[in-house]
Amino acid sequence: MSKLKVIDSIEEMQEISANWSEEVGFVPTMGYLHEGHLSLVKAAKENCKIVVVSIYVNPSQFAPNEDLDTYPRDFDRDKKLLEELEVDYLFFPKDSDMYPQNYKTWVNVNDLTKGLCGKSRPTHFQGVTTVVSKLINIVNPNKMFMGEKDFQQITVLKRMVEDLNFRVKIIGCDIVREKDGLAMSSRNKNLKSEDREKALSLSRSIKLAKNLFRDGEIESRIIKEKIWELINSSGAKVDYVEIVDPVTLEDVEKVDEKSRVILAAYVGSVRLIDNGNLE
Ligand code: AMP
Repeated sequence: MSKLKVIDSIEEMQEISANWSEEVGFVPTMGYLHEGHLSLVKAAKENCKIVVVSIYVNPSQFAPNEDLDTYPRDFDRDKKLLEELEVDYLFFPKDSDMYPQNYKTWVNVNDLTKGLCGKSRPTHFQGVTTVVSKLINIVNPNKMFMGEKDFQQITVLKRMVEDLNFRVKIIGCDIVREKDGLAMSSRNKNLKSEDREKALSLSRSIKLAKNLFRDGEIESRIIKEKIWELINSSGAKVDYVEIVDPVTLEDVEKVDEKSRVILAAYVGSVRLIDNGNLE
């Protein structure tokens, strides 16, 4: 018998979370769960007594021209997966409760949100930092488990929890990939079958960068050029390719094993991201 409790009321979740007496692990998600999400849930289960997962497709992190309406959703399937993993609470708030009509407050992290995904999605991180702040206040966790798949996001959120003195520790977890290397993403569902090869150009780019570095290449510019070629010749369209310092997210000219290759590309109408270090 599953013990998963589904909660859609902010007040009810806050009443419960005000009295946590044991270590609470939290995994915020937008649902349509895959093995990447489940790896975070498993890490939370291993580390914490109580596990809360949220499913909320946060409208404020999507620009009007983005894929909010077509973002994949399947609540019943997600719920079943979380029951199987013996998650304690599934928090599933409503838009009208998260952003009531008179909503006015936004959280912003400067600098770290300007480049990379922030360039083509200038309002995205404000939506992410705001919703995660709200979720932390509602769920009151000790630890939050997040994927390195969204490397800029986790970097921004680590800065935010430190700067705003949130009493939560963010634990970064490795990227989970399909057998062929494609980083798992809910958006992969929207890929057409003929686009799979194009989508693979992202993970192949990370491999290419590692190989070039292993063979002695340290010029960021040259590695980036080769990645542009690889992605564009696959039929996908580069949004950006950068090699950055993993802490400051600033561009590096000469790379080392800790440098982070971060990229985004459009595969048809689907925008995918990937990243990796050069180790
Ligand atoms: P999302 O539902 O896309 O908002 O993602 C929720 C959480 O799952 C975030 O912390 C993501 O970084 C993480 N995540 C998404 N895809 C993966 C993946 N392939 N491997 C590891 N973590 C992931």
